[in-house]
Amino acid sequence: MNRGDPRASRASKTAVALADGRTLMYFGAIPGRPADYPDRRRLDPAVIRSEVRFDWLLGEWVVIASHRQDRTFQPADNQCPLCPSTADNCTEIPAPEYEVVVFENRFPTLNGDGPAAGNAPDGTEKDLSIGTTASGSRPSAGRGSLLGAWPAAGRCEVVCFSQHHTASFADLSPAQAATVMSAWVDRSAELARQPGVEQVYCFENRGAEIGVTLSHPHGQIYAYPYITPRTDRMLRSCAGYRHETGRNLFDDLLAAELEDSARIVLAGNHWIALVPHAAHWPYEVHLYPRRRVPGLPALDDAARAEFCELYLDLLRRFDRLFDQPAPYISAWHQAPVRRGGTDFALHLELFTVRRAPGRLKYLAGSESGMGAFANDVAPEAAAARLRQLG
Ligand SMILES: [Zn+2]
Repeated sequence: MNRGDPRASRASKTAVALADGRTLMYFGAIPGRPADYPDRRRLDPAVIRSEVRFDWLLGEWVVIASHRQDRTFQPADNQCPLCPSTADNCTEIPAPEYEVVVFENRFPTLNGDGPAAGNAPDGTEKDLSIGTTASGSRPSAGRGSLLGAWPAAGRCEVVCFSQHHTASFADLSPAQAATVMSAWVDRSAELARQPGVEQVYCFENRGAEIGVTLSHPHGQIYAYPYITPRTDRMLRSCAGYRHETGRNLFDDLLAAELEDSARIVLAGNHWIALVPHAAHWPYEVHLYPRRRVPGLPALDDAARAEFCELYLDLLRRFDRLFDQPAPYISAWHQAPVRRGGTDFALHLELFTVRRAPGRLKYLAGSESGMGAFANDVAPEAAAARLRQLG
């Protein structure tokens, strides 16, 4: 397999301030030039009203972010806020051209420094002994805290993959994808150091069917003040498996899938792409590095470069699944920043909500009401189909 150019996986970064004080970062081979363009807009700082509340029955945090109802919704193409600025249209990106940019969302779900959710204002952990695992963060139990709320600290960033409005991630060259990877690595490491951040999540929603409000190719990064529910469940599963077998669950699952081989889609020197045995979605692929690492910053240059080749191949297969490009969610799963991450394996989960041309998989009564999934496509058939589309 062509490993691409490892040098491309280390792009340069230049940070500038936008008119309302938010930070924007240019990533790429020519980082200095875009910094010469100041933000010419008059922007008042956005009013952020969000908080986190704890759902005691499900044992998970929920962000209440009422200000987001006012955010930009599917603007006309010539008013896209993610295109480079022109003389007539001052966008979020002041420069007339860019490779990859990352900036703080003007309408963030999570915002600001603060203690991790449920912790005391000085950042020390409160009583975590009541029915929690080492990985969980929750408020102290008691009637007095059942209706508590905490500031939704953390950060939400937008990642623009390309300056071209009609492009998609699948259109990028391996070198351009490597610049995006470089941005993900940089942000994962830097946001993990921010006070109160417990987990960093890089993701992309693609397609109006997923609820994307801006069509310009972009992803997002959330730095949460708590461990997310799915990661918490995975950590509990890992702890239970280790307790019973003394082994790592991710390692054993990957080894079992490789031995079975029925659901393997792509196998590189450094990565494996597979449809999981108990896939929830019609077309769902998980990408694992062969060498288990906790997060993106721990990947070596060869693994980063091969990821770009493999991921682009996979996205192009997804685009050929149906009569039009598949809407998808692409989600990086990384170990939490502070607690409980020793058994966790970095991986990417890519799935589409489309099950056939013109047919979407809806999260209906069983899935939304009970969290109980039923998948209409056999994982083995999905893997065979994706292998054929190469
Ligand atoms: Zn655009």
